[in-house]
Amino acid sequence: MRGRELRGELDAFLAETEQDLVAFRRDLHMHPELAFAEYRTTQRIAERLTAAGLAPSVLPRGTGLICDVGSGDGPTVALRADIDALPLQDEKDAPYHSTVEGACHACGHDVHTTVLLGTSLFLAQQAAAGLLPGRVRLIFQPAEELPGGALEVMAQGGLKDVDRIFGLHCDPRVDVGQVGIRPGPITSACDKLVVRVSGPGGHTARPHLTADLVFALAKILTELPAALSRRIDPRSSLSLVWGKVEAGTAANAIPDAGVAAGTVRCLDEDAWHAAPDLIKSLLESVASAYGVEATMDYTRGVPPVVNDEVSTEMLAEAAERALGAGAVVPTQQSLGGEDFAWYLESIPGAFARLGTRSPGGVTYDIHQGTFDVDEKAIAMGVRVMAATALTALWEVGPLDSVTTTAMA
Ligand SMILES: [Zn+2]
Ligand SMILES: [Zn+2]
Repeated sequence: MRGRELRGELDAFLAETEQDLVAFRRDLHMHPELAFAEYRTTQRIAERLTAAGLAPSVLPRGTGLICDVGSGDGPTVALRADIDALPLQDEKDAPYHSTVEGACHACGHDVHTTVLLGTSLFLAQQAAAGLLPGRVRLIFQPAEELPGGALEVMAQGGLKDVDRIFGLHCDPRVDVGQVGIRPGPITSACDKLVVRVSGPGGHTARPHLTADLVFALAKILTELPAALSRRIDPRSSLSLVWGKVEAGTAANAIPDAGVAAGTVRCLDEDAWHAAPDLIKSLLESVASAYGVEATMDYTRGVPPVVNDEVSTEMLAEAAERALGAGAVVPTQQSLGGEDFAWYLESIPGAFARLGTRSPGGVTYDIHQGTFDVDEKAIAMGVRVMAATALTALWEVGPLDSVTTTAMA
């Protein structure tokens, strides 16, 4: 039975390559590259794929790549990893901490990249042995955090002929060895909002003769999220959270301009559509009450990732096959944004959460300078990704003689 053999094959492959994959991840972690600047990362991946006899095709900008394993008339399943880092400081003591000032793999994309590399090497072996009943497209996507890398991959024909697509994301609230699964929406819409305020400026001794811009900006910062929560159905979980605010240079001078930037997140599509106009009218009313001018730039981000039922079932079945009974756990829809959503607007697929917490250990959070993973998650991820690709190919594949009985 293929399922039983697969587990043994993965055991043998990982016994040989797990340490090497951990070293690969640490190298990426020490050399993080931001969105659309992942040149070194792309080269490292390409070298390893080429050495395994594959033919990677680097995207035109020189960051990110696509590579097919296997061929023939069978179905095509895509596996995607994002490869970019975040513009924040690494705060870890680990020997593999970032060597780049102000850049850090704080979203685990180094792990996603390494998991997909390991999966690629395993699938290359399977293909060489004639065991791949179709084609697997490996997508090493740049610039997830921008976001926009997914659209770049699609513009380059990355989804052409692809029947289904799968992806994983590190989840530091789930123990290593487990995978969080959810059919339907699993992430949320995430937009970016920049508010600029301006006024005449003046001396802090005479706020009544000018417009007290810092005070007005502070009102906007607190009133906008508060008013929104009373104007939108709470079930939509629309939230506006500020991440940056700037105004003024001196303690005794009222500045003439200020800026605040934040994100608007939302579980629900109707509320997502209503958000920009509502925020604009609330902003204008608060600003006019304090005599300042306010403008906003509202940038639409990603829609929610909506997992297709059949693909989610395939991924769950594969994860249980690869990691054993009890490995699949339910997960909730998060308020995080993820540009994998763009792929799922075009073709069916599923996105799942890969547990990265050491059991009983610290619960980290992503997008924090302290974020780290239990590196056993790399081998787990390879098992899940490889099993998912093969399960998806088996279930629609041409090899009728192949059985897909789950492992005991
Ligand atoms: Zn992220
Ligand atoms: Zn991420």
